[in-house]
Amino acid sequence: MTYPADEDTLPMGLYEGPGTVRRQTAAMPIGRPSANGGLLSLGLSSQLMILATMWDMAQLAVLVTDAQLKLLAVNPEHERITGYAAHEVMGQVPDMFQPDKHPPGVCDALRTALKTQGHWQGEMLSRRKNGSLYPEHLKVMALRDPHSGVVTHYVASFSDLSLQKAAQRRALHMASHDQLTNLPNQMLLRDRAEQAISQAKASGTQVGMVVLDMDHFKTVNDSLGHAGGDELLRQISSTLAAAIASTETVSRRGGDEFVVLCPKTDMASIRHTAQRLLVALSEPYRVNGREAVVSASVGVALCPADGEDFDALLNNAEVAMYQAKDAGRRCVRFFTEDMNQGAHDRMALLGDLSRAALRGEFRLYYQPLVNLHNSEIVGAEALIRWERPGVGLVPPSAFIPLAENTGLVVDIGQWVLHEACMQLRRWSDAGLGHLFVAVNVSALQFRQGLLEQQVADALERSGCNPSRLELELTESTLMVQPEEVMAVIHRLKQRGVQLAIDDFGTGYSSLAYLRRLAVDKIKIDQSFVRDLTIDPDGAAIVRAVIQMARSMGLRTVGEGIETQVNRRALQVLGCDLGQGYFFGKPMPAADFDQLMRPAEG
Ligand code: C2E
Ligand code: MG
Ligand code: MG
Repeated sequence: MTYPADEDTLPMGLYEGPGTVRRQTAAMPIGRPSANGGLLSLGLSSQLMILATMWDMAQLAVLVTDAQLKLLAVNPEHERITGYAAHEVMGQVPDMFQPDKHPPGVCDALRTALKTQGHWQGEMLSRRKNGSLYPEHLKVMALRDPHSGVVTHYVASFSDLSLQKAAQRRALHMASHDQLTNLPNQMLLRDRAEQAISQAKASGTQVGMVVLDMDHFKTVNDSLGHAGGDELLRQISSTLAAAIASTETVSRRGGDEFVVLCPKTDMASIRHTAQRLLVALSEPYRVNGREAVVSASVGVALCPADGEDFDALLNNAEVAMYQAKDAGRRCVRFFTEDMNQGAHDRMALLGDLSRAALRGEFRLYYQPLVNLHNSEIVGAEALIRWERPGVGLVPPSAFIPLAENTGLVVDIGQWVLHEACMQLRRWSDAGLGHLFVAVNVSALQFRQGLLEQQVADALERSGCNPSRLELELTESTLMVQPEEVMAVIHRLKQRGVQLAIDDFGTGYSSLAYLRRLAVDKIKIDQSFVRDLTIDPDGAAIVRAVIQMARSMGLRTVGEGIETQVNRRALQVLGCDLGQGYFFGKPMPAADFDQLMRPAEG
């Protein structure tokens, strides 16, 4: 295609639609198309053709009015955005110049700027033909006669910002809300709390913070599977959102912890709120066709008494929540100053505990496991102790739960496995190769998938006989994700390691399931053994367990045997092995060696 050559140049063309062109020269205050690299060097008719095409193609709505603001021309994009066909608006004054169609001041600002500077740009809200509103970015420019300086036309262009604004709103929502539950996140909570706190300070009112942490959520979560757990969290969120007042904010803090912010409250009404939330939460949920019941431990703190800023308030509400957990869960606790001492102790304990392994402060004690028929010591259970500087020997009950909650138990478990295998090796070297050592394995160690590697390392580094190592697992560890559990256990058994179920009777596992896991031993929990001679029902249970275990080829161990009477009773019921203070308390390896000495000779 060729264009007719034309020496004339066109500073500015105005179009009343494709095809019609009226020439106009103007002194351009801004946006002068002089920099239209190369266009001016083309012939006039080429320029016109190109500009007409651009007018049609432009992704900006463009309109031209006369000096009285009456529309002379609009491009096709104008119709697409506004819904008005060109012929419907010709001769009309566009919305943007009509003060009554906009918030006060916007039109005045536009008109003033046009008068004084000849141009204006900014955002406006306009209405489409169908009545809907849309945000636009608008640029308006006055064209003046170069000689007289009189305004002859106005040219405006605008784009529809709806999509852009919607995307911005979405991004803002995502940044301030929890993805899983769509509840406000910590950032938004902080924002609202800080506002509420400053208002409360000004008006002398109080702000309440309620922290809710689900009880035993891990167990529920594990039993429902990952997706089921997520669904439950969403339902819990809806329940909480429905239970709060419109002035309150419920936010997810992560995991299974939620926070409710209550502006303008007092002790009595926040107590009421906390109770109401507790009751609302305890309604059963349905997840994947199954019923799930949850409860929460609730901590409450009030501003300004319990904390004057967001962080202090949240921290203290959380301290109170931990107190509710310690008090047996499913209850509400209000923050008090002395709670902080407990929280400090906990932090100090955690700090010391995390360094204990490196500092060599853990000890393994060994408690004899005895053949009930001939009273021979056949093995030992390795039980951890912590020699905490300045405190003394700390029993596992004082730090294993904390270690489990914080994940430290995985490293501790590795140390225990290593130390127990080294002891097996020492006993083997000393001619006590028949002894086995039972090691307690935490659910977390198992769940994190690290157990297999830890066992392999410990066996390899010590060079002990794998068949002398026994792992004690609890029923609850094994109930989660049975397929995976079975695979891991299968591989451990292939290494020759033995397997015992600890504290049997306190969980819900069936013997049939345990048999499929190829378990070797069942340790009957102390609580059954203790009541054996007093409680006929207890005795019946123990008898049934022993008989079933025997029929399946599993050995049984009675835990917590303290008296000769207990020992006899278990023996009569056919229990194979026993453990308890009656035979010996947990003791250092050196003491255990002493105990074994007479048997050597
Ligand atoms: P467990 O595995 O059931 O260990 C038996 C507990 O009962 C031991 O408490 C033991 O000292 C105690 N016990 C034994 N015989 C008697 C008795 O005749 N009467 C009474 N009243 N108690 C008796 P310990 O050593 O305090 O350990 C408590 C729990 O801590 C253990 O229960 C086990 O679950 C956990 N634990 C101990 N060591 C470790 C470890 O290395 N790793 C992990 N993950 N947990 C451990
Ligand atoms: Mg045990
Ligand atoms: Mg036990």
